[in-house]
Amino acid sequence: MVLSDRTAIVTGASRGIGRAIALSLAKAGADVVVNYARNDTAAAEVADLIRAEGRRALLFKADVAAPEAAEALIKAAQSEFGRVDILVNNAGINRDNLVLRMKDEDWDAVLSVNLKGAFNCARAAARAMVKNQYGRIINISSVVGLTGNFGQANYAAAKAGLLGLTKALAKELCSRNITVNAVAPGFINTEMTAGLPEKVTEKLLAQIPMKRFGEPEDVAGLVVFLATDAAAYITGQTIAADGGMTCM
Ligand code: NAP
Repeated sequence: MVLSDRTAIVTGASRGIGRAIALSLAKAGADVVVNYARNDTAAAEVADLIRAEGRRALLFKADVAAPEAAEALIKAAQSEFGRVDILVNNAGINRDNLVLRMKDEDWDAVLSVNLKGAFNCARAAARAMVKNQYGRIINISSVVGLTGNFGQANYAAAKAGLLGLTKALAKELCSRNITVNAVAPGFINTEMTAGLPEKVTEKLLAQIPMKRFGEPEDVAGLVVFLATDAAAYITGQTIAADGGMTCM
């Protein structure tokens, strides 16, 4: 139980990668706040599974893009568990379109949730972590933030922005024993990728040396590692979990 006595907040933990991260952190011994935006039933199921591991779980519905909602999320974690040790900024959306057709509202929505949401939660959590002189902040970026992608200017900009945020936060917070790192998943089997046309999937598979999409657990294992004391000297880094996609 490498994370026993640790508490974690995972944003967007009702489904996909966030769900796997929340469950893996609980399996490693952490109590977990399950944040989500809409899907009450799926989030409640994740909380039940965490409790079945013998850990505490708190459900907290909040739109991370709203600063006051992010503040309330961190406050709820503090009052329920007494402290905030680990924050995983995982909540994300995509609204894909070519730049020439992209609507302002689709640009704004993706930047608001993926980038501002992470800033909102990190700022609120860092205030709590500074008091405890301990913290782990892990931002879920994407290989698309490293390489760009057709039809994803908003998403690529948000995910690349997260890498800058990660490095700046790492430098500001390292003297307080708080590390900040980013994880860049490749293409992972979740609802976000379920609707990809077969031709696009085939093209993507051709770019992945391991010749398969990842599973949410492939990302969760890396996040758990970054949350442990084994990763105490790692900060400001971006680590890809992408089946070799970005090593080409
Ligand atoms: P997903 O299956 O679509 O799940 C998204 C999660 O985010 C859900 O729990 C959703 O909650 C939550 N969420 C959405 N908007 C939110 C908001 N405003 N406030 C709080 N929670 C919100 O996505 P995923 O594929 O697991 O992706 C998780 C993260 O990994 C995202 O940041 C994504 O960009 C990144 N990523 C994914 C892939 C991939 O291939 N899947 C690759 C690279 C990076 P509800 O259920 O309540 O809607």
